[in-house]
Amino acid sequence: MKDAAERHQREAICRFGRSLFERGLTPGSSGNISVRLDDGGWLVTPTNASLGFLDPARISRLDAQAKLISGDAPTKEIPLHRALYETRGSARAIVHLHSTHAVALSLLPEIDPRAVLPPVTPYYLMRTGETALLPYYRPGDPAVGDAIRGLAGKYAAVLLANHGPVVAGDTLEAAVFATEELEETAKIYLLVRGLNPRFLSKQQVLDLVQRFDLNLPHTDGDEPK
Ligand SMILES: [Zn+2]
Repeated sequence: MKDAAERHQREAICRFGRSLFERGLTPGSSGNISVRLDDGGWLVTPTNASLGFLDPARISRLDAQAKLISGDAPTKEIPLHRALYETRGSARAIVHLHSTHAVALSLLPEIDPRAVLPPVTPYYLMRTGETALLPYYRPGDPAVGDAIRGLAGKYAAVLLANHGPVVAGDTLEAAVFATEELEETAKIYLLVRGLNPRFLSKQQVLDLVQRFDLNLPHTDGDEPK
């Protein structure tokens, strides 16, 4: 028998997965979700499984070394999840999507790899924080794990070029909401790109950082050139 907490997490993965899929936020069998459990092991969505049609009983159960204990074979994007958990100590859940606007954003020449989006809305900064861009890697390439480790846990949200976002959260709900916020902010950016939009000023960003105790890599005296 699985304990109640694990059963609850299995059901939550299926519920959020279905919600993301039904809103067109990750097509086909793309995207994956993981949750870290109290024993250091994790639950993760199986390889080639659509997030829209997950079965709680078939979710992959891994031990703390990411070895499969039960359920279907896990997503081949395990290196992504593993590296982000290793470097983000507080992370309890990770969401990875192939969401249209975030992927489109990752192709643009003007993107600052240390902050893929300007401060478009307060909620982007409050829920997602700044997002780092990583170069293209073949799906499942273990080198992507080293690239994530290279960010030293400074970013909860990472955008893989030509692929999609990977976002960690303290809870599954927080990781899902942060991923949605990234996708919606990318959409807004693409809508106003080239229209001389007014983003939040440096002062407005600093006010949010202070008021909500935000930890943004850029505003810690590491200004982009
Ligand atoms: Zn992917």
